[in-house]
Amino acid sequence: MRSSERLERLPPYLFAELERKVAAKKAAGVDVISLGIGDPDMPTPADTIGALARAAADPGTHRYPSNRGRPELREAFARFYERRFGVDLDPGTEVVPALGAKEAVFNLNLAFLDPATAALAADPGYPVYTGGPLLAGAEAVLMPLLPERGFAPDLGAISAADRERARLMFLNYPNNPTGAVVPDGLFEEAVEFARANDVLMVHDASYTETTYDGYVAPSFLATPGAKDVGIEVFSLSKGWNMTGWRTGALVGNAEALEAYWKLKTNIDSGMFEAVQLAAAEALETGPPPAMSEVYKRRRDLVCSALAEIGVDIDPPRATIYVWAPVPAGHTSESFCELVLEESGVVVSPGGAYGPNGEGFFRISLTIDDDRLAEAVERLRSNMGG
Ligand SMILES: *Cc1c(COP(=O)(O)O)cnc(C)c1O
Repeated sequence: MRSSERLERLPPYLFAELERKVAAKKAAGVDVISLGIGDPDMPTPADTIGALARAAADPGTHRYPSNRGRPELREAFARFYERRFGVDLDPGTEVVPALGAKEAVFNLNLAFLDPATAALAADPGYPVYTGGPLLAGAEAVLMPLLPERGFAPDLGAISAADRERARLMFLNYPNNPTGAVVPDGLFEEAVEFARANDVLMVHDASYTETTYDGYVAPSFLATPGAKDVGIEVFSLSKGWNMTGWRTGALVGNAEALEAYWKLKTNIDSGMFEAVQLAAAEALETGPPPAMSEVYKRRRDLVCSALAEIGVDIDPPRATIYVWAPVPAGHTSESFCELVLEESGVVVSPGGAYGPNGEGFFRISLTIDDDRLAEAVERLRSNMGG
């Protein structure tokens, strides 16, 4: 059997070795606590589940959906964007449902890239920004996100050759894995860059609804001129505790959405219409308001425990992650192995998100308070001093 060259171009899976070690620990009877994965632990709001049950009982939802989506869902996205972000969207041409942000990001690569072209991708970043271009037969050009720049890429540092071959740029604020919120002026600069270099700007808005301390995350599309050069990927996964539902949308530039839609009609047959109707109701209600309080409490728990073992960081104002430097003398991999070995706690090595993630580790806040408290207590007693 021979798999495709396309598949072989993917880099080795950096979590594989860690996963093997976790499995060995568990087999040896260790009570392993995983702070590795960003998957909300709380249930989807009850009203949304009720809406799904009602819609699923209606035979009108049982047939093939269309990739354009039900008008109820497209209109709900448009109303949500107006209310939440002050962004005006035409539900007919500027909204297309997606089976989650991951599907949208991946398929945009197929819709816009050819061999010898590239996507500009944040480093560290969500792995699909680099895996997607490779699977599309193109290249990913990494844009370092450095703490001293507030984790904003330096667009001025992108070479003429890379500007020439780039067709897409992926940005993501609030940011996974760094927890950074969008630095002042970056979205305006991105619009200018996209216009000057004929690049489609793709903003991944997966974490706009997961913010604390009064911070309100903007939509990229609220930036003047953004809709002329860009689109936004919106997801209900993190903000509404709906990762299992596979619900999101691409919104913004109509011409870009037309290309995505044309591709999608050849790949999948859209989102179950009962899920679409439930997602429409979830958008009308808004994200569960208690969520940010829960994550804020967990964030404070983690940040104070880290401070006690000598890791000082600015507490993030958004996302479900804490991104922290590894102690001196460690690589991100050696530190994550040590934490697993000494404390039975899994954290993610920063290097898994790109070369500039090296030297950091990521803690996910998606575990109940008691287990999280136990995990940080183990870190404190095993690694303190
Ligand atoms: C979790 C995550 C996604 C995936 O979202 P889905 O809508 O569940 O596919 C996309 N982008 C980023 C940055 C994420 O962290």
